[in-house]
Amino acid sequence: MIVLKTKNEITEIQKACRISALALKAGVDAVRPGVTTWEINRVIHDCITKNNAKPAFLGYGGFPAAACISINEEVIHGIPSKHRVVNEGDIVSIDVGAIYNGYYGDNAFTVGAGEISDELKQLLAVTEKSLYLGIEAAQTGNRLGDIGNAVQSYCESFGYGVVRDFVGHGCGKQLHESPEVPNYGTKGRGLRLTSGMTIAIEPMINLKGASVYVKDDKWTVVTDSGLPSAHFEHTIAITDNGPVILTKI
Ligand code: MG
Repeated sequence: MIVLKTKNEITEIQKACRISALALKAGVDAVRPGVTTWEINRVIHDCITKNNAKPAFLGYGGFPAAACISINEEVIHGIPSKHRVVNEGDIVSIDVGAIYNGYYGDNAFTVGAGEISDELKQLLAVTEKSLYLGIEAAQTGNRLGDIGNAVQSYCESFGYGVVRDFVGHGCGKQLHESPEVPNYGTKGRGLRLTSGMTIAIEPMINLKGASVYVKDDKWTVVTDSGLPSAHFEHTIAITDNGPVILTKI
């Protein structure tokens, strides 16, 4: 069931989203060659608790940290570790959610460590732009397929692979709500978008090929190709005045 939110509820969700955005920014700023993913997670965890919120991912389905941190061929759900060191030229995807006053926010960003290749710079720029194209398509009266199509058509025009096995989702009163929000689709198809929906749009875009698998740790999703993948996410509200990005500082 899709839960539509009132204006007041969206204001409350926005508070959780702002803290998620602050924590994500803190994590992104902590990325540099030599840092461990454990340290990045610590910075994020501290930021959330300092803002009187709770890390939404910690304990979710048994996940052991505040943030998912995924490097290079890791697409999503990487587990922070004291033994995982970020190297020069890596790309680091950080995904973080916060719970504030019972409401949820969720966002993600991929950043390069030190100097990264032009190939990876383009992957990051295209994936980030596809998120904004998806958001732009999230207009009242449009359909879910319009969002997915906007992301997919742009990314595939660069020869990239759009991950199918994981998708965006409703977000606000729970971390993961209905509907699913795929990063692929057909224009004019799927559920009609209505004012009061709050959704997380999160393109996961592979340098080559769409297929992924889950590693033996039962969490980390990696590309079949072994090639890098990028991930950007915002939680937004669909309103009569257009989409509003809630995960903003
Ligand atoms: Mg999400």
